[in-house]
Amino acid sequence: MIDLHCHVDLYPRPATVIAEIARRGMYVLAVTTTPRSFQANRIFAGENPKIRVAVGLHPELVAERSHEVSEVCSLVEMTKYVGEIGVDGSSQHRHSVDLQRDVFRTILRAASRSGGRMLSIHSRNAVRLVLDDLERECGASVPVMHWFSGSELELEAAVARRCWFSVGPAMLASKRGRFLATLMPKDRVLPETDGPFGQMDGAPLMPWHAELALPILAQVWNLPLDEVQEQMRWNLKNLGQQHIQGI
Ligand code: MN
Repeated sequence: MIDLHCHVDLYPRPATVIAEIARRGMYVLAVTTTPRSFQANRIFAGENPKIRVAVGLHPELVAERSHEVSEVCSLVEMTKYVGEIGVDGSSQHRHSVDLQRDVFRTILRAASRSGGRMLSIHSRNAVRLVLDDLERECGASVPVMHWFSGSELELEAAVARRCWFSVGPAMLASKRGRFLATLMPKDRVLPETDGPFGQMDGAPLMPWHAELALPILAQVWNLPLDEVQEQMRWNLKNLGQQHIQGI
């Protein structure tokens, strides 16, 4: 099982979650929202090679923490994974969009300078801006759009830009999310939870709930569940290879 976008450090008891991830033999990309939490996550993740820690600066925090971008850029050297980064254009964060883009582009440039990184990207109400910035600064990095919620045309543009997608049970709970999933290339999709922010029936999703996305994908893609499971394993391997080539 794979969770390609999870905020492991933000659960009430991260150590318990980490232990359960290990017990289940899961692959988890632990995204972080600040450079400090990257360091804390590396300690939590310990020696488990299946838990990879990404360095990030969440776009919703940029208005308060843009000064931390230089720290993020220096930590990019220490990991192959960058996230959560991106731009949030929703009404609550629209005021800081210019600053968010400055920060996003700065991090993209650092990732590119380091030879390319896997990027877990937030693009709520800002897909066009994110794609414009990727067009200019992505370099050899591999962009993964997490919890994509743009329009059909924006999705087509992201596919054309060679983006990958991480989709979870919360996104797929809506009719619209399921429709978008039908348009995603099956060989560029991986499961995520966005836990503990991603929720189901009012409760935070745990990393192992990423597998709840698979029967829904099987349904919308009209494939047997075991084929979807096999596709996800193949995708993880392929993403790793694409990514390693970029390093
Ligand atoms: Mn997130």
